[in-house]
Amino acid sequence: VWSSCLQIIKDNIPTQSYKTWFEPIKALRLEGNVLTIQVPSLFFYEWLEEHYVGLLRKTVKKQLGEEGRLEYNIVVEKSSNNKPYTTNMPSNGNGSDAKRQSMPIPVALNKDIKNPFVIPGLKKLQVDPQLNQNYSFENFIEGDCNRLARSAGFAVAGKPGGTSFNPLMLYGGVGLGKTHLAQAIGNEIKRSHPDKLVIYVSCEKFCQQFVDSLKNNTINDFVNFYQAMDVIIMDDVHNFAGKEKTQDIFFHIFNHLHQSGKQVILTSDKPPKDLAGLEERLLSRFKWGLSADLQVPDLETRMAILKMKMYTDGIELPGEVIEYVAHNIDNNVRELEGAMVSLLAQSTLNKKEIDLALAKSMLKNFIKNTSKEISMEYIQKLVCEYFEVPVEMVKSKTRKREIVQARQISMYLSKSHTKTSLKSIGAFFGGRDHSTVIYACQTVEDLIDTDKKFKAYVQDIQKKLKMS
Ligand code: ADP
Ligand code: MG
Repeated sequence: VWSSCLQIIKDNIPTQSYKTWFEPIKALRLEGNVLTIQVPSLFFYEWLEEHYVGLLRKTVKKQLGEEGRLEYNIVVEKSSNNKPYTTNMPSNGNGSDAKRQSMPIPVALNKDIKNPFVIPGLKKLQVDPQLNQNYSFENFIEGDCNRLARSAGFAVAGKPGGTSFNPLMLYGGVGLGKTHLAQAIGNEIKRSHPDKLVIYVSCEKFCQQFVDSLKNNTINDFVNFYQAMDVIIMDDVHNFAGKEKTQDIFFHIFNHLHQSGKQVILTSDKPPKDLAGLEERLLSRFKWGLSADLQVPDLETRMAILKMKMYTDGIELPGEVIEYVAHNIDNNVRELEGAMVSLLAQSTLNKKEIDLALAKSMLKNFIKNTSKEISMEYIQKLVCEYFEVPVEMVKSKTRKREIVQARQISMYLSKSHTKTSLKSIGAFFGGRDHSTVIYACQTVEDLIDTDKKFKAYVQDIQKKLKMS
């Protein structure tokens, strides 16, 4: 019966989804009109219920008649590979075999079922938290610009999962210290709670790992790994934009962690309410805890940062130079540091003392030199990464909706951001003619006017283009 069900399912969903979510299922038994299937984890069960319950129900009824029912057996086995974690099923009252237990759950009840499982026995495990030791609270200068974020971060570090700041969302523009502060929290937690499993991961890396796990059929391991953490620090969550599948997975992981009192720390370039291209339900979770912003530091804080950096690097600069630099580079701490590094480099190269005159002539160069050319190659890469489509498809003949969209946006951006002719743009994107490019640009412009989500996508990509 199950194999005929599978046949129906296979015909109704994309091959990749079928392979990921249905191939690992085993049919256990058929008793009367109740078919019992075994799924590899609770997470699998939740996923099936959320995404495929309708299809499953229809299919089972088709095979077993109107009274047909499906029951799940959820099994979590000891991970057989040598990944640094295990997920054993806990004993839930009657269990003698801790490694392999299952529990039938009737289909379509998931909204009411409390998660009866906890992942036990993980405390002995070691996970490299992927933190950079150089980022600490001590070398994060406090100022009006970051006071709330810093003290919330400190509170979280003292009691991970135990404050109402969960998740803690740190947001602010480029180079204002989000990564520094988020990592400082992680380092502080490891220092004061060495047993806690902490993981730092950039959103981009997480997305990549997810894609890899789909490819390698290790999605279960991937999810288990993150769900086993006590603290997850995810950097730059605005990069989730457009990646709906990855957001879906993170939504599950987030819920699991949050429900079990684990700490989630996020950074983003915008406050949750302005994050375009993220699913509403994920955003609503992001708003649960505390969002604290990092603003541009004032002059005094900028000078303090420069002085501290000099002190740690063992360098000295005349006071008036520090002041001059801090005065003129006023929107971004990373640039502030960059300016100082260039100053030092110049002075060692030319064997000249850094005085105000040198600082002035150098800063001039530092502030301009930002008008590099953008290539179509680069646009194509950016757009494809954004929508999670393979780069080579854009130039192909395919008319798949998501590819066509990526292709049209790439053309549109090539027209507006490069000096290339329409003819050359068409040629670049798979040997198409200039009227195709005109049509693509028209389509994109129309969609920008009528579809808010689409507009947000395009703006987001444009911003990425400008930042590079
Ligand atoms: P973001 O992640 O917001 O883009 P980063 O955390 O990478 O920014 O910060 C850029 C640089 O500025 C880093 O080298 C960081 O150490 C430094 N920085 C930012 N804010 C501060 C601060 N308040 N005190 C000391 N250094 C800072
Ligand atoms: Mg950062």
